[in-house]
Amino acid sequence: MTILIKNATVLDLNRFAAVESDILIEGDRISKIGVDFEVKEKENLKVIDGRNKVALPGLINGHTHVAMTLFRGASDDLPLMDWLNNVIWPSESRLTGEDVYWGSLLGIVEMIKSGTTTFCDMYFFMDEVAHAVEQSGIRAVLSRGMVALDPANGEKGLKESVDFIKNWQGKANGRITTALAPHAPYTCPPEFLRDVIVEAKRLNVPINIHISETLDEISIIKERYGTTPVRHLESLGLFEVKTIGAHLVHVDDEEIQILKRYQVGAIHNPQSNMKLASGIAPVVKMLEAGVLVGLGTDGAASNNDLDMIEELRAASYLQKVSNMNPEALNAKTSIAMATSLGARALGLTEIGLLQEGYKADIILLNTNETNFYPRHNIFNLIAYSAKGADVDTVIVDGEIIMEKRQLTRLDEEKIKFEANKRGLKLVAG
Ligand SMILES: [Zn+2]
Repeated sequence: MTILIKNATVLDLNRFAAVESDILIEGDRISKIGVDFEVKEKENLKVIDGRNKVALPGLINGHTHVAMTLFRGASDDLPLMDWLNNVIWPSESRLTGEDVYWGSLLGIVEMIKSGTTTFCDMYFFMDEVAHAVEQSGIRAVLSRGMVALDPANGEKGLKESVDFIKNWQGKANGRITTALAPHAPYTCPPEFLRDVIVEAKRLNVPINIHISETLDEISIIKERYGTTPVRHLESLGLFEVKTIGAHLVHVDDEEIQILKRYQVGAIHNPQSNMKLASGIAPVVKMLEAGVLVGLGTDGAASNNDLDMIEELRAASYLQKVSNMNPEALNAKTSIAMATSLGARALGLTEIGLLQEGYKADIILLNTNETNFYPRHNIFNLIAYSAKGADVDTVIVDGEIIMEKRQLTRLDEEKIKFEANKRGLKLVAG
């Protein structure tokens, strides 16, 4: 299909400019951005009126566990270990593949409706997550989470991960890519991580891992290995593989230099870190050092939504208040973390910008609501007053998957019904 978006305000995140332009999409790519270009009459030409709309690259949720939407709101306001031991882990032990499928669809609908076009996921029953991604039209980096405190568990996880990668890497016209996901340095011993590194190199996939999320983790690693999580992983050679590191809340200046040196993608999850009282990641310092910092929501059990517009705002506010500096993490930078910089953090080179030749992952925000008036500065409006519900149209891989807030591929009512039924049953036990 060929799509022509006419007269939109188009965000150019290379120059941080907003330009009135048309966008031509041919196949899965952006073929032209500009004004006054001729489009030959085509049979399959779909024209979208871009007036009162701003076009930006689809948002990139760099860290989530999408099927955890099933546990949203089941239990909140608890210490992390209570919450995991008494609510999340018992419920997860009852999960079936079908539950994960419906929970994933629920999360994907929520993400599409709030402008996310790519997400990076770590969970189990990943075949079901992949089916949900394939059907929904969204793009994703998928990985099966591996915990290896019991070596047999680790071995099983690694085998399933390798099978998953072989089955799904590059599927759905390349919308699905894969990674290996050792859960965290405190749940995966060094000998297991070494096996993971070997497999990641062999399969040429990135590693997706939680790092330095809580102070408890820092003490465990210090006690076991006499060092900090980032130094520990560096000494194992883990960062020789492209690494997507979630959280990185408790890192010192030297560790920030290590992250920069190895081009580790550092995924900041401000709302989850606030809600679980994990701490405040030194995002301003990381950005100044040149670390690739992306943004994520984490799972909906610890956020409790998957809205990236809200997340980029939270990221900005959290840095301002923690640095006691209103200039910290400005509007343009937080938008970049959710788009262009987020793509680089995940190692994805063809998304994150509206640029000719890039994949056509584009969202249109309706700027005709009151929160977009007056039109002083579109970057400030998006960062500080836009809402997920302002997302009007979502295009992924050159296909419209939501138009005027109607999903084109998925049955939203059925998904809500199934996810509700299953979520309630899983938590009730
Ligand atoms: Zn996580």
